[in-house]
Amino acid sequence: MKPWITISVTGLFWLLTAGCQQPFGEEYVVEQELQPYVESFHQEASARGRIILEENLIMIIKDDLGYRGLSLWRSGQRLIYIDREYYNYHKQEHDVIEFVVFHEMGHAFLGREHTDNYNSIMNIKRVDYSLSTRKELLDELFNPLH
Ligand SMILES: [Zn+2]
Repeated sequence: MKPWITISVTGLFWLLTAGCQQPFGEEYVVEQELQPYVESFHQEASARGRIILEENLIMIIKDDLGYRGLSLWRSGQRLIYIDREYYNYHKQEHDVIEFVVFHEMGHAFLGREHTDNYNSIMNIKRVDYSLSTRKELLDELFNPLH
């Protein structure tokens, strides 16, 4: 199993991209295969009273990411990468991909960090995301108790 990682510190991202200085606008570009998951995220948020605008996100499936998902922030632009190998392996398993996309969007749109709470999508050790646990986990994602 690949480890999860999230880097939300701008400085670290600058370190990774030093020498790459092209301007970066606040674009909204979601890879077609991932659009249903993103739309579902917005619908589930809305159903829980959280209005999240469909703006400022680049989400792509990336080769050799090294992690299942990665959420980055640079100069005001949200970037989410989903690993292509992981995606291709699990793309028939809707809940597996949804879990990764929602986890990364939890970082990027909700400001959520990792938690030890087992009943949370933001717990990186969480494995039983399924139809039977989905509602409770989404309630926690959008409206954490703490
Ligand atoms: Zn994470």
